[in-house]
Amino acid sequence: MTGLVDAAPHHDCEVLVVGSGAGGATTAALLAEAGIDVLVIEEGPWIEQGSVVPFSLEQMDRQYRSGGLTVALGRPSIAYTEGRCAGGGTEINSGLYRRPVEATLERWRRTHGVVDFSDEEFYAACDEIEAALSVGRVPGRHSPAGDRLRRGAAALGWQHEEIPRWMTYPTSTDAVAGRRESMTRTFLPRAFAAGARMLCEHRVDRLIHDGDRAFRAELTRPDGTPATVDFRDVILCAGAIQTPALLQRSGHRGLVGRSLAVHPTVKLAARFDDDVNVPDHVPVHQVNEFAPDLSFGGSASHPGLVALALTDHWDLMRGAVTDWRRMAVYYAAITSEGRGRVTALPGLRDPVVTYRLTRRDRALLGKGLARLALVMLEAGAEAVFPSFRGAPVVRTRSDLADLTGRFAAGTASVMTVHLCSTVPMGSDRSRAAADSHGRIHDTANVYVNDASLLPDAPGVNPQGSVMAVAMRNARRFVEERA
Ligand SMILES: Cc1cc2nc3c(=O)[nH]c(=O)nc-3n(C[C@H](O)[C@H](O)[C@H](O)COP(=O)(O)OP(=O)(O)OC[C@H]3O[C@@H](n4cnc5c(N)ncnc54)[C@H](O)[C@@H]3O)c2cc1C
Repeated sequence: MTGLVDAAPHHDCEVLVVGSGAGGATTAALLAEAGIDVLVIEEGPWIEQGSVVPFSLEQMDRQYRSGGLTVALGRPSIAYTEGRCAGGGTEINSGLYRRPVEATLERWRRTHGVVDFSDEEFYAACDEIEAALSVGRVPGRHSPAGDRLRRGAAALGWQHEEIPRWMTYPTSTDAVAGRRESMTRTFLPRAFAAGARMLCEHRVDRLIHDGDRAFRAELTRPDGTPATVDFRDVILCAGAIQTPALLQRSGHRGLVGRSLAVHPTVKLAARFDDDVNVPDHVPVHQVNEFAPDLSFGGSASHPGLVALALTDHWDLMRGAVTDWRRMAVYYAAITSEGRGRVTALPGLRDPVVTYRLTRRDRALLGKGLARLALVMLEAGAEAVFPSFRGAPVVRTRSDLADLTGRFAAGTASVMTVHLCSTVPMGSDRSRAAADSHGRIHDTANVYVNDASLLPDAPGVNPQGSVMAVAMRNARRFVEERA
């Protein structure tokens, strides 16, 4: 890929962008197109879309951080995953696109004093992103697992909708063979066409400062040897866990890393009487009857992920895994009142992450799982296997009371793929670690432009919000610094 440059002990650039995911690729493209000399540094490898089976164990090994085994400690601990490859999370995610509602933007203005943040500008950025990523509906038939969810919600009279995705399809009837319009296919080639350069498999370890100004980044090269980059400005887009960790390693503490927000989810596996499983596909329907507090959707259901959903009571359910073709995994996601922390510790490569669910969060997870099980029964599931230790197998409505009675959040397999808000933006310095356009308070040239900036979890799939904020801030940066 033109634009990728070779390892060298030293590099120079005008603007260093750290990370090439939703925030970093968008930032790099807009700055390069404005004539700025941009160097993107990405810790993971460049892997072409389509060369790895989506949601497979191989993908986890090659494109996820730590093979997908990362956890926020708490009661219960919450498993989370991050992309670690060119394009970041956009390469491995489900591609489900949602705009945040106006009330969310208003809340961000109110709680964190985000200024110069109009709905008009934000939604105009969403329009641009939707065009650039080919966001659209599935052509032809939906996958059977998604169709079951839709059917169950319809039977209950609950609101549900198809969520558009950033996908293109080889033919107008083949919904399964779609290709993700991730950053390696959209904003990174755009950045390269405008002259941006990118170094893959290089990790930025820390920034070196002179007073309020950072001027150098220390890196580790693929062979483990050190390298440096000198820059005029630096924009951190390493994601909501790694950006605050890198800031802390560079001496920025204060509010950095103290307000992690996530959408916690609980899961179940449902078994039907015919085949529903398409291993490399995710259902596109969501049930929004109780949104934003609670929403339901379908997860990737690769056989390994079906097995994972059944591990909480393996003795009872190991037989079920052989039926994986008739099974699919679904989730209930909540908006959480809880918060977490990211803390970089000396001597450790990865930060320690913690998250504390509130009493309301824990209760909502249980309620969500029971309602999701009901949807599945209405969709025709012959057996539902909720993911918590000691859960009953649900076969009829009368089993739901047993599920509710036995549920305790502490025994559930809670996970999340939506991480944000660890360096929230805003003019209120008692709550925001960066100003309203992402510059770290009291620094001259250290910026953040990724999911870390969102003042809280948007209550919808976040990539669209991350990119729209990144686009807005990149344009402001160009106005002020080009
Ligand atoms: C499995 C999964 C499914 C998801 N599904 C959806 C979905 O359907 N819809 C949706 O809207 N959102 C989804 N998301 C969330 C979405 O992908 C993220 O919100 C988005 O990618 C965040 O963008 P970002 O720029 O903050 O970070 P990322 O996209 O994670 O990019 C950060 C990049 O920085 C790199 N990096 C980190 N540290 C360093 C360092 N020290 N030096 C150099 N590089 C570094 C990382 O390798 C990574 O490539 C999903 C996420 C996952 C993991």
